[in-house]
This record gives sequence, structure tokens and C-alpha cells, in this order.
Amino acid sequence: MYQARAYSAASATSPLKSDSIKRRATTDTDVQIEILFCGVCHSDLHTVRDEWAAFMPTVYPVVPGHEIVGRVTAVGAAVTGHKPGDVVGVGCLVDSDHTCPACQADMEQFCPEGVFTYNAPDKHLGGVTLGGYSESIVVDERFVLRVPTNLDLAGVAPLLCAGITSYSPMRHWGVKSGMKVGVVGLGGLGHMGVKFARAFGAHVVVFTTSPAKKEDALRLGAHEVVNSRKSDEMAAHAGTFNFILDTVSAQHDINAYLNLLTMDGNLTLIGAPNEPLPVSAFALLFGRRSLSGSLIGGIAETQEMLDFCGEHDITADVEVIPIQQINEAYERMLKSDVKYRFSIDMASLKNE
Ligand code: NAP
Ligand code: ZN
Repeated sequence: MYQARAYSAASATSPLKSDSIKRRATTDTDVQIEILFCGVCHSDLHTVRDEWAAFMPTVYPVVPGHEIVGRVTAVGAAVTGHKPGDVVGVGCLVDSDHTCPACQADMEQFCPEGVFTYNAPDKHLGGVTLGGYSESIVVDERFVLRVPTNLDLAGVAPLLCAGITSYSPMRHWGVKSGMKVGVVGLGGLGHMGVKFARAFGAHVVVFTTSPAKKEDALRLGAHEVVNSRKSDEMAAHAGTFNFILDTVSAQHDINAYLNLLTMDGNLTLIGAPNEPLPVSAFALLFGRRSLSGSLIGGIAETQEMLDFCGEHDITADVEVIPIQQINEAYERMLKSDVKYRFSIDMASLKNE
């Protein structure tokens, strides 16, 4: 066991601040990683402020961060897939039982024994797992991903959550050329959704509450941009979408989007507002439309997504910040003022 510098929050109303945390000694199957960049996900904010108390109450002190890119510093004797010096990634998952039907199907994110990177029971040290707002982490090699060598690392970090979370449902629902795809909310997940939908060949429409993001949306790959607060702009697209990816982090009217689907069209929720979203039966009955959800992605699919990004030169558009600006970054994220992901340069922790 060793001590590592990190940023933690002591309660739902406390700011994140410098701390020293315990990391386990590297076991035979572990990889020890020096963290270079960690993306800032809205889930980090939900968790720090205990907004998901009804589903996943936060245990304090909490160290968030599940968009981790770093360099391997040590490996256990049995590790074969990684070696010191390799650049690797860790996302939202650090363990699972490897035997349940979900694990057998390469969907460890649905394993009943799945362990999230932070705020999940830690079988090694007790307490809960502590995430990537830290200088180092120790992770079972099966949850450590290979990072393509041609990509900018600050922009790779967000692929480990925002990337896979938008990639996986588009693959599942078969997004491809000839389809009209909507992306609701142009934040961290949304801007990755735009990039992937475009790379898969779809006609891409962004729905935003921030009209000032229009030029960026087009630059990121959208063909059209709709101001979702304007009912006439929404109505012009009624019944035309094959697939809509909803990334919104707060309460909003999903019926307005269900009504934009074609026959058999699907709307997948990946945003995770804490309050229930009312659904109109009629919005689903007409056209046999469906509403579903999706949670990150399995490890094999995450590797597939990273390799796809390497081949297509896809990374997140990031604003790199020192860890000392994390509390201000959270406030900006709440105001939808993030272009389009904060990525923490973890070298800044050395100043603490
Ligand atoms: P984000 O960067 O803050 O983006 C969310 C976007 O939603 C905002 O930029 C804004 O886009 C829009 N928005 C925010 N408040 C809104 C409101 N009241 N009404 C309408 N639109 C609003 O957040 P993120 O990191 O992308 O995460 C989005 C959500 O996904 C969070 O709830 C997060 O916890 C969840 N999440 C889920 C998974 C999963 O596995 N399913 C994984 C990661 C994150 P515009 O300015 O364009 O309107
Ligand atoms: Zn996330």
C-alpha cells in the first residue's frame, strides 16, 4: 500500500480539495498507472453532490474521475497485456465477476458484481473505490485499455466514458449511412455522439438549448442544428428520425423528442437526471416507437471504440485545466458552458 495525492470532496456541499489517499500494492494481476489526464464527467458532479442518492448514495470522502489516461509504472508478475511505459486508459469499471451472463456476453457494465472506478465497495482496501482525480491508480489488468499511439492524450481521456457511452448505443441500434440521427444536448457525451454518428455515415442533427453552440455543432460534424426551445424548429422534424441519443443531465420533456421518431424509431437515454422523466404513452404507441437506456459499454467494446478512434483520428474537444480549477469547472458544467469536455492535466497535482 502507498499514499497518492488526489482531490476529494468531504460532503455533498464541500468543494473538492487536495488530499492524500491509499492505493493498494500491485498484485500479480494488477497494473499501476501514473495518471496523465482525467476527463471531467457530469457523473462526477452528480456523485460529488450526492444527486443520485436514491440509486447510488455517495460515500465520503469521494474521489471522482473515470476518464483516465496514464502511463504504466509497474505490473504484477502475471500481467501479460501491458508493460511499464505503455500508455493506457481506464474507464468507469475496475472489476466484475467474469462468470455471470453479462460478463460472458462482454457486457461487464451489467454484471451484478461490477465495480465502478469510484464510489463502489473496494474488496482490496475496504471502503469505496477512489477515482482518477489522483496522481496514480492500481487496476486489474482486464480493465486496462490500450490507447492508440497517434492520438492527443488530453482528448483521449474523455473517450473512456463520454466516448464509449455514446458509441455503444449507436452500434447497438445500428446507426449507419442513410439514417437520420439526433443528438440531444451538446456537452461531453453529446459532442462525442455527433462525431461518432457522423463517422458512421448518418445524417446528424443536434438539438441544443444553447443557440451559441450552432457553429461548433456544425464544425463537430452536425448537418443541421435545432434550437430545442423553438417549437416551430422542432415541429419541422416531426416523424423523421430513426434514432435519437438523449444526453441531457437535467429534467426535460422527452415526449417532444419521441414525437420526432419515425415508425420503429428509437430514443436512447444516456443522460441520467435524478428525477423521473414523464413519458406520454401516445408518443410511443403511434409508430411503435421505443424508448431505451444504455450504460457505458463493456471492456471489449471500449477497446473497439478506442481502436476506431485511432483509425478515424477521433478525440474529444477538450479544455485542459489544472486540478486547482476543478470546482470552477463544475460550476461551468452546470451552466452548459463546457467546450466540450474539461480534461485535467494531472501534472498540476504536483503543485499541491
Ligand atoms: P454535460 O457535458 O454537462 O452536457 C449535458 C448537456 O445537456 C449540456 O451541455 C446541455 O447541452 C444539455 N442540458 C443541460 N441542462 C439542460 C436542461 N435543463 N435542459 C435541456 N438541456 C440541458 O454532461 P455530460 O458529461 O455529457 O453528461 C450528460 C449526462 O449523462 C449526465 O447526466 C451524466 O451523468 C450522464 N452519463 C451517463 C452515462 C451512461 O453510462 N449512461 C455515462 C456518462 C454520463 P446544450 O447546451 O446543447 O443544450
Ligand atoms: Zn462518465
